[in-house]
Amino acid sequence: MIQFQQVTKRYPGGLDALKGLSMDIQPGELVFLAGHSGAGKSTLLKLIAGIEKPTSGTVLVNGQNLARASRGSLPYVRRHFGLIFQDHKILFDRPVYDNVKLPLDIIGFDGREVKRRVLAALDKVGLSGKEKLNPIALSGGEQQRLCIARAVVHRPSILLADEPTANLDRDYAHDILELFKSFHQVGVTLVISAHDETLMADYGRRILRLKNGQFTA
Ligand code: ADP
Ligand code: ADP
Repeated sequence: MIQFQQVTKRYPGGLDALKGLSMDIQPGELVFLAGHSGAGKSTLLKLIAGIEKPTSGTVLVNGQNLARASRGSLPYVRRHFGLIFQDHKILFDRPVYDNVKLPLDIIGFDGREVKRRVLAALDKVGLSGKEKLNPIALSGGEQQRLCIARAVVHRPSILLADEPTANLDRDYAHDILELFKSFHQVGVTLVISAHDETLMADYGRRILRLKNGQFTA
């Protein structure tokens, strides 16, 4: 489902953030991505999502090369993804409900479906009843779950999460990972990064380890 063939990414003026990576992620797989800060985890996730393009090599998602996708087809490709990225900020000028609704607005979702979807996503992450609150009234952990609801409200087939457990205590981090596991159980393909590998160890899943832009054993 996600295939890297000799993928190298060099940022303008920078060193190689990723160096000749090859890998395959199967449909419905839950994969962890481990590595120190600066190892290239975010870059790898951005390449999967088509947010960054490889400098050389090929990234295929469902057999499609996103770097070659036409501008017009990108919105259709994007709707297959749910993204939980650090730079996807919560909007504090509107209530929880409107934050979760955003992806549906972008996709141009059928109006009658919107409310049902938003409330189902909030229920899924344990935020039922909080839809009218301003997100500022949520705890840090609840804000993280808001981001997860927003990422899954359009029922993506691929969910990418960049360090979703950063800054959470251990019990809470496990709750978040259990939530991701529930998406795995309904067939979603997940790639979840973290620098703390001990959390992943309990889940018995494949771990891709990055060090200075290369995979290690
Ligand atoms: P991680 O997510 O593992 O912390 P990143 O993918 O963010 O790693 O970064 C990998 C390397 O690429 C780092 O050396 C970082 O400084 C560099 N890098 C990341 N984004 C950019 C960018 N937009 N421009 C230049 N260099 C970048
Ligand atoms: P819906 O009301 O959208 O049919 P469900 O009640 O089946 O959703 O599930 C609740 C929430 O769980 C969904 O809104 C979505 O956030 C998430 N979810 C369920 N199934 C999937 C899936 N196949 N892909 C992505 N997310 C899903």
